[in-house]
Order: sequence, then C-alpha cells, then structure tokens
Amino acid sequence: MENKTDVIVIGAGLSGLTAARKLEEAGYSVKVIEARERVGGRSFTHHLADGQVLDLGGQWIGPTQTKMYELCKELDLELYPTYNEGKIILYDNGKKTLMGSNNGALPKLNVFVLLGLGLTIKKVERLVEQIDLDEPWNHPKAKIWDGETLDSWIRKNTKIKKVREYFNIVSEVVFSTEARDISFLHFLFYIKSGSGMDNLLNIDEGAQKERIIGGTQEISVRLAKKLKGEVFFNNPVTRIEQSETGIKVFSREQFWEAKKVIVTLPPTLAGRITYQPPLPGMRDQLTQRIPAGSVIKIQVIYKTPFWRKEGLTGQAVSFTGPIKIVMDNSLPNDSRGVLVMFMEANDGREASEWSIEKRTQKAIECLVIYFGQKAADYLEYVEKNWCDDEYTRGCYGGHFTPGVWTGYGKHLRKPIQHIHWAGAETATVWNGYMEGAVRSGERAAAEVVEILCG
Ligand SMILES: Cc1cc2nc3c(=O)[nH]c(=O)nc-3n(C[C@H](O)[C@H](O)[C@H](O)COP(=O)(O)OP(=O)(O)OC[C@H]3O[C@@H](n4cnc5c(N)ncnc54)[C@H](O)[C@@H]3O)c2cc1C
Repeated sequence: MENKTDVIVIGAGLSGLTAARKLEEAGYSVKVIEARERVGGRSFTHHLADGQVLDLGGQWIGPTQTKMYELCKELDLELYPTYNEGKIILYDNGKKTLMGSNNGALPKLNVFVLLGLGLTIKKVERLVEQIDLDEPWNHPKAKIWDGETLDSWIRKNTKIKKVREYFNIVSEVVFSTEARDISFLHFLFYIKSGSGMDNLLNIDEGAQKERIIGGTQEISVRLAKKLKGEVFFNNPVTRIEQSETGIKVFSREQFWEAKKVIVTLPPTLAGRITYQPPLPGMRDQLTQRIPAGSVIKIQVIYKTPFWRKEGLTGQAVSFTGPIKIVMDNSLPNDSRGVLVMFMEANDGREASEWSIEKRTQKAIECLVIYFGQKAADYLEYVEKNWCDDEYTRGCYGGHFTPGVWTGYGKHLRKPIQHIHWAGAETATVWNGYMEGAVRSGERAAAEVVEILCG
C-alpha cells in the first residue's frame, strides 16, 4: 500500500472534506483518515424504511451562510423552506398561549417581562458589536466577561426571573448546555459569529430557514466522491508523530506519512490522540477546557402534519422540559408529518440515563401537552443521543467555559510544527455550525498550501 502523501486530513466531516478538496485543487496529494464507516461526522442522515430521509445531526442553513449555499449549488442539492405558517405554542407555568411566528427572538410574555427582555437583548447586542471574531480576548473588558458565565451576567443585569429563564433556554437551544456552563465572552463571540441573536434564533430570515433535500450528509458524500485521494474508513487515529522532516499518523492497524496534517476533530477528541513529541502544555490545556454540549435529537413521525390544519406552525417553546423546543420537520413531497425536538443541556443529561422507552414516553407526554391528544398517535419515533457517540461525544459543538478565550484562545488555531487545526469549533464565522466547519477546513488548507508552496 502506498502510504505516503503530501497532506493527511484527519476526519471526514465537512471541515475535513472541504480541506482535502482545497488541497487537491492546489495540486497536493491528500489522504483522509476517518474513524467511522461513513463520511459526514455530525451531519448524519437516517434513511427511513421507504427511503425518505431525516437528518439526525446538523440540518438547517440560512442567511449569511454563503459557503453552504455555494456548496449546495455546486453539488446540485436542492433546498426547501422550514414550515413556518401559523401560530407558535408557548408553554409557561402550566399555561398554553399562542403567539405569531414573526416575533423574532422575542416570545409572547407579559408587557413588563417583554420590556425587560427587550432591554437585556439590546444590551447584549451592543456588547456583541464590540467583539473581534479573530481575537475576542483582545477586548479591554475580555477578562471581566470571560471571568463570568452567561448566567451570572444575566443575573447582574436583570431582576426579572423570566428574562433569566429565557436566556437559559437560549443557551440550551444554541449551545446544548446551561447558561451557568459557558463564558459570557464566549456567548458574545458566538452570537456575533452567527450574525446576531435574531439571525441565530429565527426561521424565515435566520439560521433555521431551510433544509437540504436528501439530507446534509449528502454534501459530504458528494464531496468525498470528487476527491482523487482515498478516504480510509474505520481507522480511528490514535497517534501522531512528527519530526523536522514530516509526520506519521497511526491508527490501530496502519500508518501513513505526510509533510503536513490537518486535524478536524472537536477539540476534546483531538486532545485524546497521543502526540509525539507531546503537544505544548497550553494546547493540551485548551483541549481539556472545551466540552461538548449534551443533546438528544428526537423526531416523531405522524400520518399527517395535523397541527397545520389547526393553524399551528408545529413550533412549541416551553419553559419546562424535558422537551423545550419543537419544530415542524416534515419532509418535502411526503404526506406524513414530522416533529423534531431536542432534550438538551440538563434535560439531555438526565434523559441520557433513561431507557429509550422512557425517553419516548416523556417526549410524547410533552407533545400531547403542547399539541393535544392527536400527538399520542404517532407512527415512528427516531432519536440520536450524540453524547453516546464515540466519535463526537456531545453536540452541537464544544463551548468555551470561563477563562478559556482569554487564557488559551490564541492556541485554538495555532499550528504546532506540521499539525494544523480545523473543525467547526475553530471557525471565526459561524463557529459551531456547518458553515463554520466548511470555512475552517478552507482556512486550514490555505495555511498548509502557503507553507508547502513557499
Ligand atoms: C443534533 C445536531 C444538530 C445540529 N444542527 C445544526 C444545524 O441545524 N445547522 C448547522 O449548521 N449545524 C448544526 N449542527 C452542527 C454541525 O453539524 C457541525 O458543526 C458540523 O457538522 C461539524 O463539522 P466538522 O467537520 O467540524 O466536525 P465533525 O462533523 O464532527 O467531523 C469530525 C470527523 O472526525 C471523525 N473522527 C473523530 N475522531 C476521530 C479519530 N480519532 N480518528 C479519525 N477520525 C475521527 C469523526 O467521525 C467525524 O467524521 C448540529 C449538530 C448536531 C449534532
């Protein structure tokens, strides 16, 4: 077997495959080493018995995600809009109310709460504007903001309990973790990276605007088909050795040699590879401090999208779990209805310990509360617990805990001799999203090309 190549890319997710593609376009030979038996990583499409597909990982794209739109166009993948006609159910304190679907980031709450919420969001947005996405640690107040959590900042800046609860839901929905777990500086960075709070949370003109017909994994499948270099499946990389002259990458069964390597794993998993010589302490400490969120993505299939006839979008927002967010995820050209929902953060952690039967029962109980008894009459329940997945270990991505941006931020993308770093967590724009993964792969490939051709 020819095991030598110019560049080795570790991971065949969106970042790895776009990096490989850019390197080949620049004339370099590439081998991609992938732990799983498939491409796509966190974009993973499940095939139902009749061939229809559901995305179990990343699924929505929206405005300002230019790389994703370009990829879909180039790879001949069609899009379809997220269903957003009718009312949204708001479930709070045992009471159900309906709100319009064009409220942006604001739920329907009493005027006093709404005013407080609006003011707090405005305050956050003013801080967001000041963040430098390349070097968030450089802001004069970076250490103060990085020294507290989203939760502690919100507590200091509003006395209204509902506003605090709202921001905790935002944290759960966007980071799959509690507001007390993330650095406030990271929150500001992430909001800016995703083009603002409205854009992150919205459907019609936001990050949940549309889906890809055939599922998002198809992007990776098509990218991999176009590569000249081989993708080696079922080869979890365990060790990387480097010297002055080049690099050796080992899985349990084989090894490859190259001039450069791009590691595209989420930081925690990248930290589990053995490096020889060992990585500098600061790089290793960084990988110890970017934990993944906790999420179980659930989809429930019905004979019809019955909620639509009742004037509902299929969306529900609840202040109590274990299901706090529901959306219509019905398929194009299909008469069935699909609701997608998430058990996230603490709810996701608790639910991880339940049996699948208990999770099914709890999810359906929530749906019955939100949508009525018809929600009990479902055809199929499909779930994926990303915490259990050996080659991801939690989602949607890694979040920065307090002190990480200011203490270790500059080590996030800094190459170490022949090793370069990519992956959605290293992106400046759309960090944590598919768009960010693509941008990070292209950025790391450009770094390597500059060195190799220099
Ligand atoms: C439930 C869920 C919902 C999401 N929703 C959205 C959404 O709607 N929109 C959006 O834009 N994003 C969403 N995301 C996030 C998005 O999917 C990710 O940001 C993106 O796919 C990450 O791509 P990546 O290439 O950086 O990492 P990954 O996809 O994680 O790729 C890393 C690859 O490395 C492989 N690997 C791991 N360990 C090893 C090893 N030791 N050796 C070799 N290979 C290894 C993995 O198998 C994987 O293929 C969601 C994610 C999840 C899980």
